[in-house]
Amino acid sequence: MTLEGKVALVTGASSGIGRIIALKMAEAGAKVAVNYIDIASIKADAEAVVKEITDKGGVAAAVAADVSKEESVEAMIKEIEEKLGTVDILVNNAGITQDGLIMRMKVEQWEKVLDVNLKGAFICTKAALKGMMKKRYGKIVNIASVVGFSGNAGQANYSASKAGLVGLTKTSAQELASRGIRVNAVAPGFIRTAMTDVLPKEVVDAMLAKISLNALGEADDVANAVMFLASAESDYITGQTIHVNGGMYM
Ligand code: NAD
Repeated sequence: MTLEGKVALVTGASSGIGRIIALKMAEAGAKVAVNYIDIASIKADAEAVVKEITDKGGVAAAVAADVSKEESVEAMIKEIEEKLGTVDILVNNAGITQDGLIMRMKVEQWEKVLDVNLKGAFICTKAALKGMMKKRYGKIVNIASVVGFSGNAGQANYSASKAGLVGLTKTSAQELASRGIRVNAVAPGFIRTAMTDVLPKEVVDAMLAKISLNALGEADDVANAVMFLASAESDYITGQTIHVNGGMYM
């Protein structure tokens, strides 16, 4: 799967799944915009990802933006156009959790998670569209989650944001098909990253019991599905979700 000649923007690409997607896209020949939220330690991580890419002869730039802020994202898209070119591939990967049972969840917790995970994807999609529409080509991949389909006690905000991403995926796929833009989602299950490393052993064991393949997924597993949806090999696929979860909730 080659991405030669393409410009890819991966949001939240300084760590975890986003980092692996950025590395794989660069290996496949894309010029990669490694988005990060402007916090010193995260900036350093994003610059390290760029260095990993450029050390291997690839092309990448670290670009700051808070995906939940429209002005910030529009400035980032302009910066990418100047440094790398028009975005052909957008991966809406940035995401956060702020867990709590509904009876204790603050409205601010609800809003924060919806703002980053769902509004962020909408804002980035809208901002990247303009260039894609001019080229009459684009691939958008939204990183959803198994819990957007199954729900998860203690994660009403996160589950709703991920279910919302599936709706955004289907609607944008319908609106943009005639412009040559495909929009799909990948719904990871339980993937070994910083987000899941902090969970207690009993939670991990309970999750493993629900996974047919009886193992946590790796960021690589998710990135491989994203690569397929970003490449020409998936050109007849739009509005769909690929579940990368080792066989949960079948
Ligand atoms: P992660 O915390 O390593 O990655 C999330 C990234 O988003 C971080 O780099 C973070 O800095 C960035 N981010 C947060 N707020 C941002 C903002 N406002 N603007 C820009 N960037 C921001 O965790 P991860 O596990 O790699 O998660 C990546 C995606 O995969 C997320 O959307 C997550 O919901 C989803 N996901 C993860 C799992 C899992 O098991 N790890 C399962 C299902 C879905």
